[in-house]
Amino acid sequence: MSTDLTTLVLPDGELVTEPPVLAEYRLNPYTQETAAEGQPIAVVFATSVADVQVTLQFATAHHIPVVTQGARTSITNGAAGLDGSILLNLSRLNHIVALQPENQTAVVEAGVLNGDLDQAARKVGYFYAPDPGSKPISTIGGNIATNAGGMGWRR
Ligand SMILES: Cc1cc2nc3c(=O)[nH]c(=O)nc-3n(C[C@H](O)[C@H](O)[C@H](O)COP(=O)(O)OP(=O)(O)OC[C@H]3O[C@@H](n4cnc5c(N)ncnc54)[C@H](O)[C@@H]3O)c2cc1C
Repeated sequence: MSTDLTTLVLPDGELVTEPPVLAEYRLNPYTQETAAEGQPIAVVFATSVADVQVTLQFATAHHIPVVTQGARTSITNGAAGLDGSILLNLSRLNHIVALQPENQTAVVEAGVLNGDLDQAARKVGYFYAPDPGSKPISTIGGNIATNAGGMGWRR
């Protein structure tokens, strides 16, 4: 039985079900795997926390698997689509909310790129040390989820 996705109403973001978009976003473009067969039913491009909450409430109520996506740079298919899943894409949640050099803290949305945070930190006299090779293209949320590290840090 198919789920009526018209009842998933996002406050701010975008819900996409067009096949070409699903075909693109079900894959990790940098993957080293070749066996990504999952066919998701929708992509949610969240732009607010409320979008995330509504999506997860909907998915829970309808027993739909959710795959969270940052920048999809996982080389192990970590953010690839599962059959019947909703792809919860956070790449548009990309605002640096606050930089607080006085206590060495940054408040960021999950989709902020590592390299963007580093550039912003440098403007206030700091740098963001976690340094994966994907620094310019991967998100803070994805870095945390995968415990991404790097070869070193650059001053
Ligand atoms: C050129 C290149 C170089 C790389 N170099 C390194 C390296 O040096 N070190 C290293 O560790 N990795 C490296 N990687 C792998 C990859 O970049 C990291 O795993 C990165 O942290 C993934 O971030 P992402 O935003 O692309 O996450 P995605 O690929 O979108 O997601 C990765 C996983 O995290 C989950 N996830 C993503 N965002 C969230 C969130 N907000 N909340 C909960 N779960 C979430 C996804 O469901 C998925 O399981 C590299 C990849 C490339 C393409």
